[in-house]
Amino acid sequence: MEAAVPIRLALIDLDGTVYAGTRVIDGAAGAVRRVRDLGVAVRFTTNTDSVTPVTLVRRLAGMGVEAELDEVLTPVVLARALLDEEDGTALVIASHDVRSVLAGRIATGGERVTHVIVADPSYGAGYAELDAAFRAIREGAQLVAMQLGRWVQRDSGVHLDTGGWVRLLEYAAEVDALLLGKPSPDFFRLATESAGVDAAHTLVVGDDRASDVAGGRAAGCHTVLVRTGKGTVSRGPEPDLVIDSVADVPDVIVNNSWMTGSR
Ligand SMILES: [Mg+2]
Repeated sequence: MEAAVPIRLALIDLDGTVYAGTRVIDGAAGAVRRVRDLGVAVRFTTNTDSVTPVTLVRRLAGMGVEAELDEVLTPVVLARALLDEEDGTALVIASHDVRSVLAGRIATGGERVTHVIVADPSYGAGYAELDAAFRAIREGAQLVAMQLGRWVQRDSGVHLDTGGWVRLLEYAAEVDALLLGKPSPDFFRLATESAGVDAAHTLVVGDDRASDVAGGRAAGCHTVLVRTGKGTVSRGPEPDLVIDSVADVPDVIVNNSWMTGSR
């Protein structure tokens, strides 16, 4: 019998996994604490593109979930890194909070736009922003998607997410967007690198087959789907295991012999 592979890093999704809308999932705070007590590193890998990591840390603290700023990885963090690396000037469709992270890299008028970055439009984006983005892409700017979610669950029900807006611009401008968030395997690779743990010892936990399971598998990680959030309705590849909620993650890590050869 092969030796069981110890898990050293848990990449935990937020929306639908740790919380649903403004409500924390039962047992989430205790589960994250227990995972840490097991000596397993934690990164919160979320596609949230409506607010900043600072806001997420505060939101988690309000739910009793401890998180350090450098443990929260979102496409907003990657967008900042991309613009710095490429010395870019961006036209940005994003909330005021998200725009603050990209300060100094946002086009103010007149200069050449190198990137068009599309984040959650629910702050009130409209035709003028989309039209300006379309025109910048036609003039050579690269279209960059924070994420491609079709819909998002809020307290008031399901709502339009970022993906449709990205697809609209792709269709009109006849280009393909660069994807920063999940399911991009690069997103998960950055998370494992930040913790210094390889994918074989990493467990991805999330409620979305298309982003968490597909992306985690592509990066070579083990994957667990929770039944909370989109867990029972999302479409995509099979995870290694399906569990009721994030509260079961510590037990899954401890009783991990099932993971042997499961990747
Ligand atoms: Mg989720």
